[in-house]
Amino acid sequence: MIVSLGLENFDGLRLCSQVRSLDRTRGVPILMIAEAEDNARLLRGLEIGVNDYLVRPVDKNELLARVRTQIRKKRYTARLRDNVQQSMEMAITDGLTGLYNRRYMESHLATLVEQAAGRGKPLTLLVLDIDYFKAINDTHGHDAGDDVLREFATRIKKSIRGIDLACRYGGEEFVIVMPETDMAVAALVAERIRRRIAGEPFTIEQGAKALDVTLSIGLAALGGNDTAATVLKRADQALYRAKRDGRNRVVADAA
Ligand code: GH3
Ligand code: MG
Ligand code: MG
Repeated sequence: MIVSLGLENFDGLRLCSQVRSLDRTRGVPILMIAEAEDNARLLRGLEIGVNDYLVRPVDKNELLARVRTQIRKKRYTARLRDNVQQSMEMAITDGLTGLYNRRYMESHLATLVEQAAGRGKPLTLLVLDIDYFKAINDTHGHDAGDDVLREFATRIKKSIRGIDLACRYGGEEFVIVMPETDMAVAALVAERIRRRIAGEPFTIEQGAKALDVTLSIGLAALGGNDTAATVLKRADQALYRAKRDGRNRVVADAA
């Protein structure tokens, strides 16, 4: 914005201060045009946060150069902000599936476990592992395997609530943390996920082929003496039993 302080019926400074106070316009660069005798108001403008000023008579090239500088600065800041945002997202999410990554899950799980224990609320944890995934890669190639992982993650996201935490724990292994959910409800959710995966084939190679995919799920509920690590371990042991008992099934930890 280029604002003249010499407007007849309007106070340019008030306009500048309004632009600075609104969220929508806070970042707009402002260049003030002042009269030589306007020193006091010029200083006020700089206090308000005006970015630059010119004193009349204004030289055309000078004005253009100052405007360009302000626009360049503004673009640079915007780019910086986008980069920071992107780095922050990359630090906590898995690039292939868009789910949270293992590091984020592990740091957040400790907090969720503490909260649940402190408030006497239940918390249930699911460990999911795709059955015979290596065979999908071996038969159809790594890209097809990646397609399956992406679609798998999409179906999982559709099956859980906003407060549930879904993450890609490793290659074809996933963890879902469900706060305020007891074992009985979590078992229903797990079974719903199992059916969503096994019930509809996955398409690969841009829809050219369809694959039947199944998964095994182990679940464990937070007990009185549990830490994040022990509840995760018990869910993992339940998963192991699901694999051993024939896969494509949900097994709950007995404890
Ligand atoms: P099980 O039923 O016992 O779980 O057998 P499985 O074949 O699923 O298990 P295994 O652990 O033997 O194989 C997992 C495979 O997942 C091996 C690895 O090459 C593959 N994998 C891991 N990460 C990725 C990935 O990002 N993309 C693809 N396409 N494959 C991956
Ligand atoms: Mg597997
Ligand atoms: Mg595995």
